[in-house]
Amino acid sequence: MIMSIAITAFSSPQSGKDKNKDVKDDFKYLTEQFADSKILRYQVPGFEELSLKQKELVYYLSQAALCGRDITYDQNYKSNLLIRTTLEAIYRDYTGDRNSGDYKNFVVYLKRVWFCNGIHHHYSTDKFLPEFSQEYFATLVKNTRSESLPLAKGQGKEQFLAEVSPLLFDPAVAPKRVSLDPKNDLVLSSASNFYDGVNQKEAEAFYAGMKKKARKNKQDTLVSFGLNSKLVKENGKIVEKTYKVGGLYTRCIEQIVMWLEKASAVTETPEQNEAVNKLVAYYRSGDLATWDEYNIAWVKDQHSLVDFINGFIEVYGDPMAMKGSWESIVNFKDVEATKRTEILSRNAQYFEDISPVSPEFKKKKVKGVTAKVITVAQLGGESDPTTPIGINLPNANWIRKEYGSKSVTMDNITNAYDQAAKGNGFLDEFAFSKEEIDRAGEYGHLAGNLTTDLHECLGHGSGQLKKGVGPDSLKNYHSTIEEARADLFALYFIKDPVLEKFGLVPNDEVAKAEYDSYIRNGLMTQLVRIHPGKTIEESHMRDRALIAHWVYEKGLDDKTIEMITRDGKTYFKINDYRALREKFGELLKIVQRITSEGDYNAAKELVEAYAVQVDPALHKEVLERYKKLNIAPYTGFINPEYTLVRNGETVTDVKITYPDDFAAQMLSYSKKFSFLPVR
Ligand code: ZN
Repeated sequence: MIMSIAITAFSSPQSGKDKNKDVKDDFKYLTEQFADSKILRYQVPGFEELSLKQKELVYYLSQAALCGRDITYDQNYKSNLLIRTTLEAIYRDYTGDRNSGDYKNFVVYLKRVWFCNGIHHHYSTDKFLPEFSQEYFATLVKNTRSESLPLAKGQGKEQFLAEVSPLLFDPAVAPKRVSLDPKNDLVLSSASNFYDGVNQKEAEAFYAGMKKKARKNKQDTLVSFGLNSKLVKENGKIVEKTYKVGGLYTRCIEQIVMWLEKASAVTETPEQNEAVNKLVAYYRSGDLATWDEYNIAWVKDQHSLVDFINGFIEVYGDPMAMKGSWESIVNFKDVEATKRTEILSRNAQYFEDISPVSPEFKKKKVKGVTAKVITVAQLGGESDPTTPIGINLPNANWIRKEYGSKSVTMDNITNAYDQAAKGNGFLDEFAFSKEEIDRAGEYGHLAGNLTTDLHECLGHGSGQLKKGVGPDSLKNYHSTIEEARADLFALYFIKDPVLEKFGLVPNDEVAKAEYDSYIRNGLMTQLVRIHPGKTIEESHMRDRALIAHWVYEKGLDDKTIEMITRDGKTYFKINDYRALREKFGELLKIVQRITSEGDYNAAKELVEAYAVQVDPALHKEVLERYKKLNIAPYTGFINPEYTLVRNGETVTDVKITYPDDFAAQMLSYSKKFSFLPVR
């Protein structure tokens, strides 16, 4: 599970300072802004200190991470590759005035497509429309060489335009990538490319039948059914097209396997070697039982410095929460910072035992919750260019229960956020008092990182499902409830006196800083990500709105949180931090019960009541205040680039460089890593 991208970052004078000597102080983080997005670079402190073998491992894994880029585009929407290829052809061939307003708008649109891996907003999942006309697009296509364009066989430019224009300009074509509105057929109303010719009922029946059959034949019923396939109807029959060598996406997967095999030769430990080889075996067979074996091997690999994820993993892109989106993140451990999370992991059972959850829903034995702070070296697939800041994997509940999970926080990424947010005016605008601003300045970075640690290494791993309750019983509410559960665990425990005893926080101000920022964000500032008139859709945003609105409402009588209007501006002020903590605990108890019992109706009631609707007046106000600050709410990253240095056949070093041109990196990826057919 992911912990989403960082909430709209605030200025934090304290940097998450890296002590490594290869960190540059004058590093340029922010490179550009367009539409609602900004592009940052991130440093990879500690890379130079890795051994040659470790550097080589990072290199091979980084190549594997880039080879699945096309898969992400195709999974997001079936025509994304066609669109990207067309736009890039226009961009490369263009000889006209690059400063004309129309052309600039065209470039912004192309950058947004790169940023979102397709034509739908990566966060809201709404289709975004070009800010140039269809006529202008026609002129661009006509001025582009036919051999550059992805024309179908025998297709002229007019026919091509008739095919492609509606994909870009017609708001009714594929309006939403992931629709979670239960009034509609979730599958048919979503543009994501996991189902073809199949509706929600058919998909549900298909997988219910598959599980029943497995049970009857005494086969493995724990595998993540449907995770690595597209469900299609062929000649009236519903079949799975599996992502594997020789199956769907074979051209990408063959490349990934080729790099993984090179990585296998330079692994650090036998456990890591086992994990890499299992992953290769899984990509070859497409067998989900092997995927589980890989995940177990991966969890057991605890002593390697370099680590990575690579596969069809998170299910947020599928409205049915079954199909995995492809992604990869390559990283290595930040040994110094990991001491913080090790304290949490070591005490996982302690936290579980004292949590406010009903005893019957607690894990009797929390196993191997390991957490580490990592330095990201490469982002790929769904995690590139926009990335989460914390992950906890594997997702299969039974593996987490029996073997534990690995949880990570990405310190060099959060550091890039914080550095780029310095002095952007956000806090001055939205925080109620100077006290809050100062607290955020002093403790914000630590509070944010610690919350992520608690969320990932304790929150997701906590609690247990009642016997017979499947992980998908909350359906479209699953992700929101799961994220809320992990957030509440973190919010409850960040104010536990034990953290001070463990030496993790200097005082209670850290928790207060987190509460200030969480409530401000959940009730107000996250609305900057929503267009006027829209409701909240994305799971992490829903989770935050749910929690903030629930505790606000329950504390109305005692004014636990107070809404204050000053000079026509709205603020939220926390009057009683202790009472607020108790309310987080109460809600955690409720949410854990819903999860453990798979209580769909209760989940629906809670989410629909607190997490979806937006107060239009407050929304308007927040958007206006935010607009004046000229901050882009979404962040994408430019990856570093790695080059092998050779002496003859022997690799002697791996060089790292930090490019600063987003478009150039995207074009070079498209050139080097386009493996899937456009049509
Ligand atoms: Zn999470």
